[in-house]
Amino acid sequence: MRKRNIVVILICLVLVSWNFPVTASTKEVIINEDNLNLRSGPGTTYGNLGQVHKDEVYTVIKEQAGWVEILLDGYTAWVSTDYVSIQGEFTDPFTSGATGIEDTANSEDIADSTDTEEHAVQKSINVVYNQTQVRNGPSTEYEIIYLASKGEKLQVIEESDSWLKVKLEDSEGYVFKELIEKTTGKLTEGLSGKTIVIDPGHGGDDSGALSVNEVYERDLTYKTADILAQELSILGAEVIMTRDEETFVSLASRATLANTVNADAFISLHYNSVPNLPNVTGISTYYYQEQFEPLANYIQQEIIKESEDRDRGVDFGDFQVIRQNLMPSVLIELGFISNPEIEQLLLTNVYQEKLVTGIVNGLQRYFAIQ
Ligand SMILES: [Zn+2]
Repeated sequence: MRKRNIVVILICLVLVSWNFPVTASTKEVIINEDNLNLRSGPGTTYGNLGQVHKDEVYTVIKEQAGWVEILLDGYTAWVSTDYVSIQGEFTDPFTSGATGIEDTANSEDIADSTDTEEHAVQKSINVVYNQTQVRNGPSTEYEIIYLASKGEKLQVIEESDSWLKVKLEDSEGYVFKELIEKTTGKLTEGLSGKTIVIDPGHGGDDSGALSVNEVYERDLTYKTADILAQELSILGAEVIMTRDEETFVSLASRATLANTVNADAFISLHYNSVPNLPNVTGISTYYYQEQFEPLANYIQQEIIKESEDRDRGVDFGDFQVIRQNLMPSVLIELGFISNPEIEQLLLTNVYQEKLVTGIVNGLQRYFAIQ
């Protein structure tokens, strides 16, 4: 990891929600007004806890008579439903039964014993990565209640297709299976047969950062995503985009999509801006889970090699689209659109191809060692 010598405000990321999910929720709100007051209860007579802003998205805890309780960073507060849009039922792909989960533990028990009432699994697992997330339910919507260390042994209580229920000291938790059992190698070479989810940052009303000449980040990320999708398809990958050219898609939905299709990789594309520092330049790649740092490293190295932009390094980044992602996932800041020279380069297909070649080469290196 490279130490950055100046701190740059990542303006485009202001629009990325930093709130942490501590509960299973089925709904989200999108804030429609700037400086909307947060109240400690469902009414204007309750104390003011601060403000939220247009286009921010929060998890819904509860709805009550024209008010909705939302989850912020470590606390909850109420906003009037007059100034927000509430969207969709979140269907949990791991608990809805729609995936046809078959309890493999049961069939093993039946084969080994006549006691068909006993469905408990008698086995333990070795944690293979540091900071392996244990949640209080079988989906990424649930709170992380424990971080297991590499080499730690956990006793398995139940097992489904995707999740293991494990015993903790005073409670129980859920671990995503692929974090424990290294993915059983698919018999494919390189990118052929791999499912890659590409996430063009922002979209629709969320325009992201603005460049010197009023090019929106939203449109540039889509341009890059489109070229990347073509290249990956030519190499035999199945490519899924989180949004089309015009539409806004919530951050939670983007991560859920990758989890649902069991993607081999999730790549979120962004551009940066610091308008008051037009000389700032460089590219950086973020991972959330330690085991995906190698993917971030390969992609970062290859993009720098191709683009010759400044290497701002690889770092941990607490961004919702990669935090809620179970798949190998990274968020790439592909350059500063507030830098006039970079902006001009980014508008050319030649330079876009260089960025895309870097991402493709990074993915190929990553899959070569899996
Ligand atoms: Zn962005």
